[in-house]
Amino acid sequence: MVWPIRSRIISSVLRSKAPLVGSCVHGDSVISSITKPHPKFMNWVKSDGCHASSLPSFKEKQPEDLSNESKDLDVGNYMVETDGYMNLFGLMKQRFLNFKNQKYIKELEHFQSLAEAQYPKFMVIACADSRVCPSNILGFQPGEVFMIRNIANLVPVMKNGPSECNAALQFAVTTLQVENILVIGHSSCAGIEALMSMKEDTEPRNFIHNWVANGKVAKLKTKATTSHLSFDQQCRFCEKESINQSLLNLLSYPWLEDRVKKELLCIHGGYYNFSNCSFEKWTLDFKGCNVNEERSSYVVKEKEFWS
Ligand SMILES: [Zn+2]
Repeated sequence: MVWPIRSRIISSVLRSKAPLVGSCVHGDSVISSITKPHPKFMNWVKSDGCHASSLPSFKEKQPEDLSNESKDLDVGNYMVETDGYMNLFGLMKQRFLNFKNQKYIKELEHFQSLAEAQYPKFMVIACADSRVCPSNILGFQPGEVFMIRNIANLVPVMKNGPSECNAALQFAVTTLQVENILVIGHSSCAGIEALMSMKEDTEPRNFIHNWVANGKVAKLKTKATTSHLSFDQQCRFCEKESINQSLLNLLSYPWLEDRVKKELLCIHGGYYNFSNCSFEKWTLDFKGCNVNEERSSYVVKEKEFWS
């Protein structure tokens, strides 16, 4: 495919390639060294208080080296070793430059159109857990998904008031008019474990408990259904039950339910098990659901298991 070079923005990006490669985060003005989890690291942090001025010194790679390496960089194996420490910002810089050279510039027309507007078909609500990034495991590309991540991938009901989750929901549904919402949970979710183990009365300043309390309906259903199971098994059950409760909670927002009724929006659940690297996907059967607050129930369809 040949893209016409149509804008001065494109040519300015091309011109900026060389200087940018050579001018990123160097020298004294920016502290760019973070240590790897070296056995002595915690001792160093404790004794030093982690002051930036005493970060370990390292030999920064020179700009000309970076220019050469960025052409065919194997990012997955690239590390900047620094006196026994690992410069994570050096790695981050290399990954960014690799993205620019290997993706952005090669798909310049596409990225320039994204700079003007976004038209994602999906909104994803996923857990903040560092191991379950949806873009990594499902291959979402820039512009494809409007995403929010929070502890335990929970959607609060509308009556619980404003949160960053429902603010993002409102924008995605009413402005971007996404066609699908996908709530993704995962195995060994610490947020669900906190929900399952917390006492009913939360401390006002325990922000984690106050947040995961949004999943209390799922917790109650789990306890009622799985009392014969171990705590770990109950947590696995609740991880999926809370996804379905979040799907129901989505329908508590009238502007969202309205688009579902008009079949302009579909609601899906997903569950990533990183113990065996499998993914379950299903879709909420809106017509079979009862969103009555006291006796809510759900029906799902189109279940798939990817392994
Ligand atoms: Zn989680």
